[in-house]
Amino acid sequence: MLHDQFRRPLRNLRLSVTDRCNLRCAYCMPEEEYVWLPREDILSFEEMSVLVDLFAELGVDKVRLTGGEPLLRKGVERLIAMIAAKPAIRDLAITTNGLLLGEQAAMLRAAGLHRITVSLDTVRPDRFRALTRRDAHAQVLEGIEAARRAGFQQGLKLDTVVMRGVNDDELADLLEYGRAVGAEVRFIEYMDVGGATSWSAGQVMSRAAMLAALEQRYGGIEPVVEETSAPADRFRLPDGLVFGIISSTTQPFCQTCDRSRLTADGTWFRCLYATTGTDLRGPLRAGASSAELAALVSAAWRGRTDRGAEARLALAGRGPLVQIAQLRQDPRLEMHTRGG
Ligand code: SAM
Repeated sequence: MLHDQFRRPLRNLRLSVTDRCNLRCAYCMPEEEYVWLPREDILSFEEMSVLVDLFAELGVDKVRLTGGEPLLRKGVERLIAMIAAKPAIRDLAITTNGLLLGEQAAMLRAAGLHRITVSLDTVRPDRFRALTRRDAHAQVLEGIEAARRAGFQQGLKLDTVVMRGVNDDELADLLEYGRAVGAEVRFIEYMDVGGATSWSAGQVMSRAAMLAALEQRYGGIEPVVEETSAPADRFRLPDGLVFGIISSTTQPFCQTCDRSRLTADGTWFRCLYATTGTDLRGPLRAGASSAELAALVSAAWRGRTDRGAEARLALAGRGPLVQIAQLRQDPRLEMHTRGG
């Protein structure tokens, strides 16, 4: 197992299969215009499979497909089948906005996908429209139902980005919806990641505030004590319902972060807040051997000191991470290019 400068293992790879998305969520893609990655630079599934093998040899055993919207990439089930066939990868999951899940859930299951996380920020169609600029709330709910029918009940999660003044009054409603469909809800603090160009501290509802609001409604909430490097801390309501909170904005968890990200054009980032990454597409297409690629990745991980969320928290007058002009120059700085 490879470890970085803080003894954090290289274990968890977030693989963006595309930078394109069919939604424009206010916290991720609030702008009208975007610069996309050049199509010729997008890795083929075969190239992604070779790189997953490389990371697996170096200790990665969890892969999460993300994006952009991963289900937008034609034939994604082929990539899933390739990765699911790798014995070293014991956990293969996807994060999706659910729009295309209705038609694809059974196919993803047949291809060998293990788990699904659906992003759902509201139970109200009007708010969904306001947040995403699309009238497709029912399609997402149908997608969640299709995932259940296809056998993804186990491990089904709902990710909700909580924004003050937007959906902070829906925490209990989302929990009750999760309870009804048998999915575990994870509330995510709004992050000042690249692309969140209208982020401000005032819009952040902290983990502490979420717990206080939920305790008002449900009574005493207990933390779930467990050994894990997963980003969410989990909690149990008095009636036993479990949910999670991902608090990288107010209570970062860089100490245990074993995640890294590969963009769809083969750039490897070792932190969500990193502004520079390592190009793996170039050497791969230039015919580098797996030993040469492994040396490149090993050296970079061993030298890793990133603790981006902590560094952001220490900043006075914190604002958006990257300005629009810089995002246009380098779209890999965008959240929708490196994936959550
Ligand atoms: N399109 C897929 C989706 O929407 O789930 C996958 C990509 S999306 C970038 C991955 C995750 O990042 C989603 O759960 C999304 O809610 C989260 N996300 C995006 N921008 C965020 C922000 N500014 N703060 C917190 N979470 C964010």
